[in-house]
Amino acid sequence: MHKSGSRGEIVGADWAVTAALDEPRRRWAVRVVDGLIDDSGPVGELRARYPSDDFCDAAGCVLMPGFVNAHVHLYGVLAHGVPAPAQPVADFWGFLDDYWWPLVENALDHEMIAAAASWVTAELAAGGTTSFFDILEAPNALPDALFAERDAVARSRLRGVLSFEATERMGAANGRAGLDENVRFIEDCRAEAAASGDRVSGAMCIHTTFTCSEPFIRQAFDAAADLGVFCHAHVNEGVHEGRWCEEHHGMRTLEFYDRIGVASPRFQASQCVQLSPREIDILASSGIRVSHMPLSNCEVGGGIAPVLELLERGVTVGLGSDGYMNDMFAVMRGAFLLHRAATLDPGAISAARVLHLATEGSARTLGLDRVGRLEPGWHADLQLVDLEGPRGLPTPVEAHNLLDQLVLWRSASDVRRVMVGGDWIVDDGEVIGADMEQLRAHTLEQAARLWS
Ligand SMILES: [Zn+2]
Repeated sequence: MHKSGSRGEIVGADWAVTAALDEPRRRWAVRVVDGLIDDSGPVGELRARYPSDDFCDAAGCVLMPGFVNAHVHLYGVLAHGVPAPAQPVADFWGFLDDYWWPLVENALDHEMIAAAASWVTAELAAGGTTSFFDILEAPNALPDALFAERDAVARSRLRGVLSFEATERMGAANGRAGLDENVRFIEDCRAEAAASGDRVSGAMCIHTTFTCSEPFIRQAFDAAADLGVFCHAHVNEGVHEGRWCEEHHGMRTLEFYDRIGVASPRFQASQCVQLSPREIDILASSGIRVSHMPLSNCEVGGGIAPVLELLERGVTVGLGSDGYMNDMFAVMRGAFLLHRAATLDPGAISAARVLHLATEGSARTLGLDRVGRLEPGWHADLQLVDLEGPRGLPTPVEAHNLLDQLVLWRSASDVRRVMVGGDWIVDDGEVIGADMEQLRAHTLEQAARLWS
């Protein structure tokens, strides 16, 4: 792996977490060459080994893998605080039918989508996220809704996997257009990546069992298999979908997916909050990958996902923000606190485990190869997080408490520098090349247009 002939960059810090489940290392560095981690070791040794390399010394910081946000809705930023309907909605179905679908998703157009993508990708980068999976729900923005997002995502230089959430709730033709959008986008991104090294890619995506028919779901999974991508669906975000499936299919949601033959590692299922014991068995035996959104589950009153049991059963689990709070430190803290409270056990989940979910675990749910660790041969997707400064704790940082300090007391605003694939995209807490004031003004303008 060592390429002593080519010039590299050594990134060193007071501490390094090269893989979430490994012991933190003091005064440690990695060497980056051609976008990959090439070597790693104690700062002094690495510098002596490659004396002509550039050197970034992040004193007071911890060097660690960038976050992988396994589930976000970039457009969601436009809807934060959108006025509630005059009549209080009666239930979940009323919320979707009378409020969320007509007033938010159906009203989105290309300009709004692009503005939200520009703002949120900058926000993600500034907070240490280096890869994400986006789910766009905008049936009236077809065709080319994903293409409207792509420029902004490409500019951010993040690794972005984008998908359009196809649904038949507006009819068969609109459903078909949603699937076609994904197919065209996946193919186009491949051509672009080959031409320009673009980090944007696509995936297949459908909404839920209650807005998609069996033939439609099969079609989506067949297309995903043909294209060699995963297919995402929201699953049992609250109690409603499981009950709906019992009424309409005589079985619960994941039993239905299993019966129609799509329960496999190709399936990336988000939420998975309300699960029967049989559904947990299906997740464990089928290899379905799961993304967990602790904060948005609380916000929508969905419940507490049985994540500890899924992990124990060997399910691949990642963490996402769901477009609610995109600060992955807050999301990690949510998982850490929620599952301890739910189990009445302060040892139920460790800081190392939640960091693993937010990095390598999420990368695995998205099929991102060699993303989520800082080891030779892995992508140089990293962040430097300030442990000192005015917000540092007045207690010594040691190997045994470093991860608790990160998960319990740090936030997106403590991120100093971020690198994706060898490119610095955040320096001194600022997103390089982004005019945040201008982005904020434009996004505000588009949110006002959506609300009107
Ligand atoms: Zn979602």
